[in-house]
Parts: sequence; C-alpha cells; structure tokens
Amino acid sequence: MNRLMTMLLLLAALTVAAAKPGVIAHRGYWNAPGSAKNSIRGLIKADSIGCYGSEFDVWVTADDVLVINHDAVINGLDIEHSTAAEVLAQKLSNGETVPTLEQFLTVAKPLNVRLVCEIKAHDSNRRQEEVIRRTLAMMKQFGLEDRVEYVTFSRNGLLSLIKQVPAGTSVQYPAGDVLPEQMAAWGGHGLNFRCKVLMKNPDLIRRCHDAGIKVKAWKITTPEQMKWCVDNGVDFITSDDPEMHLDMLSKMD
Ligand code: MG
Repeated sequence: MNRLMTMLLLLAALTVAAAKPGVIAHRGYWNAPGSAKNSIRGLIKADSIGCYGSEFDVWVTADDVLVINHDAVINGLDIEHSTAAEVLAQKLSNGETVPTLEQFLTVAKPLNVRLVCEIKAHDSNRRQEEVIRRTLAMMKQFGLEDRVEYVTFSRNGLLSLIKQVPAGTSVQYPAGDVLPEQMAAWGGHGLNFRCKVLMKNPDLIRRCHDAGIKVKAWKITTPEQMKWCVDNGVDFITSDDPEMHLDMLSKMD
C-alpha cells in the first residue's frame, strides 16, 4: 500500500469517527436559566451552546395568526379556536408571552441554529392546510427556507408538507405506524424513534439509511445510550437537556 493510499484511508477513518449525531433542543433549551418551553429565550440559548437545531411547535389561531406553543390548550384557552389577542396575552413560565412565529423568526434570522418546525395536528383538514400554507409562506418571506426542517404527527399534514416544501427540505414523522420503506415511498426524509426501541431493533437504522431516511432518537438518559447511538449511526438526538448531551458527545472519540 503506498503512502497516498494510507493517508486516504486514515482520512476516511477520521471522517467516520467524527460523524456524531446532531443535537436538537426539544422545544428549545427550555431548562436553561430564565428559559421556558417554546420561548424566545429557549431558542437563543439553544443557539448559544451550539445545538444543531432548536425545535418548536406551530399552531394557527382562529383568526389566522401563527403562534408557538406545544399543547393545544394554554391556560384554558383552546388555541385553534381562540383569537390571537387572547392567545398572545398568555404568559409562559419565564414571564415571556406566547410568541408569534413572526416574532420567533425575527429573532432566529441572525442566529446559526437550524429551525426544527413541528406543525401541530389541527382539528380539520382545512385548518391543517391553512397552518402549513401560512408557515411555508412565512419561512420564505424571512429567507429561512434553507434553515428549516419540518416535523408533524399529522398523517395528512405529512403528505401535504412533502408535496409543498422546497426541494431538499426535510420532512419528518414519528416512527411507529410508518416503516422506513413506506416513508421513503411517500418522499419523506426522517423518522423519530425512542432510543430504547432502536436499541431493541438496531436493524431499523440500516433499513432507514438504505431507504435514504435519517434517524432521530430521543429519550437518551445515559452515556451508554448515547455511545450506542454514535456507534450505530443515529443521525440526530432530540434532547430535553441539550447541554448535557453535547457534553456527552464531546467526551466521545
Ligand atoms: Mg414538538
């Protein structure tokens, strides 16, 4: 083996060793000081520690304003069936009010973190289409189409997003009722798995990758689980403690 070939093989080995999963702050880095789930502060904190992405959840109000919150209801208000004035008056646990998507993207624009945008499952197909249409339009308006990837738990929403996103934009879905091969046939790009499910069924990772589907894992609580994810080629970690998970990864060769 000549010297050039040896160097190329070494370089390839180093490249493989460096392929660690990207860490996505689930609802932002919400357990940082002064932060809260789906808050502006959580987005800024996720960016500040070098997360690959920061996840957030989008609803459309009864009067067509895009707002960010995880649950369908906040302080007794059903978001889909309330006005923006009612929803935006609600406080998060850190004292911020519920952000609009517009406010969120204004803050996100100069940051580096990728935007992992979950489109919530709405009550009707008509409203599901409305939230998708308005969200895609706002990402375009902000020039953020290259920095956003989408997640949804709505089957209709998934199929609609796949049809409408710009080429190359990732659309992801929770694993469970959809197999990797089915997701690929629909034109989707990623599946989310519980770490424990993957560890019991490691062949799922190979099947995803063979089908061109990225693998996201969540509920990782120990360094051993993290090492397993690294060794088995998991692409992304969805994390409720992103600083801890970044620290775990930094200590692995
Ligand atoms: Mg979510």
